[in-house]
Amino acid sequence: MLDKVLIANRGEIALRVLRGCRELGIKTVAVYSAADANLKHVLLADETVCIGPAPSQDSYLNMPSIIAAAEVTDAVAIHPGYGFLAENADFAEQVEESGFVFVGPKAQTIRLMGHKVSAINAMRKAGVPCVPGTGTLQLEEPEQNMRIARELGYPVIIKAAGGGGGRGMRVVHSEAALLNAITITQSEALAAFGNDQVYMEKFLERPRHIEFQILADEHGNVIHLGERDCSMQRRHQKVIEEAPAPGITAEVRARMGMRCVEACQRIGYRGAGTFEFLYEDGEFYFIEMNTRIQVEHPVTEVVTGIDIVKAQLAIAAGDPLPYTQDDVELRGHAIECRINAEHPTTFIPSPGTVSLWHPPGGPGIRVDSHMYSGYAVPPHYDSLLAKVIAHGDERPSAVARMSSALGEIVVDGIHTNVPLHQEIFQHSAFKTGGTDIGYLENRLGLK
Ligand code: ADP
Repeated sequence: MLDKVLIANRGEIALRVLRGCRELGIKTVAVYSAADANLKHVLLADETVCIGPAPSQDSYLNMPSIIAAAEVTDAVAIHPGYGFLAENADFAEQVEESGFVFVGPKAQTIRLMGHKVSAINAMRKAGVPCVPGTGTLQLEEPEQNMRIARELGYPVIIKAAGGGGGRGMRVVHSEAALLNAITITQSEALAAFGNDQVYMEKFLERPRHIEFQILADEHGNVIHLGERDCSMQRRHQKVIEEAPAPGITAEVRARMGMRCVEACQRIGYRGAGTFEFLYEDGEFYFIEMNTRIQVEHPVTEVVTGIDIVKAQLAIAAGDPLPYTQDDVELRGHAIECRINAEHPTTFIPSPGTVSLWHPPGGPGIRVDSHMYSGYAVPPHYDSLLAKVIAHGDERPSAVARMSSALGEIVVDGIHTNVPLHQEIFQHSAFKTGGTDIGYLENRLGLK
């Protein structure tokens, strides 16, 4: 096993990784910004290093600082968590070139999957179904672009090849708006991602977001842990996730899961990863792969009993996967609510001191959170405070447990989106399950 791991992240995921390390007897190094000295995992870690001032650019995105911290503490591996540098191929490369283990895929895999057009091409070759669409568009070929859009059929969506975080996308409903949309998306993509390449896809009108979790070791063993439904979204950001996805049969799960497994074998994937699909009218369409741990990984852990963070650490140590596909059994149903520091109706971020924090508890409730009474939520980072995960024998019991848990939560001093979750849990469409990705924004009157 790895001797000492540096955790290059903050908040709940840094604490989650620290817990995985501790269970495995791995020593931990927490790196933190000047705004984060009081983070729970920093207080718990074996060693700590301040890597810079509050802005992420100067701390959590500061590669030389993080690598220097690994050097001075004699860490052997770096776990990037999610966000920040987790999907930065240059970082993965520098980590490995500096003699450390990167807890994630090889840099070349991150690069391949980070460029959405190359990822889609690789997946098509591997037999994974993708959204009908194009390669990189040529701005100087307007006639051709109009012909392609006509063939796909409106509406179409123009997407940045280097995009992420739900940004760099534009839906086009008519030919009159097409060329202008390509030009604007291109210049926005250049400004936001440093890459002006864009491509076009058929815009699916009422899809669900369903994703498959996979684990792959260095020895060619790959398994899938089933799927999650993350269709409850606002501004392409997930709000509630669940596993398994309502209405997906064991036969469909096995078939799609195996497609993902085979694709991983083909590209020589290593580590934990997620294949994201849009699902409409019984068909799956690959949109992208996330080459890291995801926020919503606990719902899969809860229904499979497999600790994904510990699996990541074991894979990074070069161990073979301790599970085969036959060992993976789904038990019951799990739902996760993301509790954010934001106003429940305006969504304006709400940093500040949490004067009182009472997490929920009881049978089937898991809380992943770095919160404590007196903790000051800094204004510099994302607003995720806690993830509450409810597990039940079947979906209705998970829903009932979550409804009860939401009523127990106390967060004083700042606003949170707990009232939004409470409202959603009253909706009959949510109780039935299987709502599409436009559902929440429609209900909120945002569309
Ligand atoms: P990002 O990397 O920014 O998250 P994705 O390609 O994963 O971008 O897309 C994010 C979200 O945008 C999807 O979950 C979905 O809500 C919407 N989306 C993307 N492509 C399409 C499409 N072809 N049709 C309909 N919605 C789409």
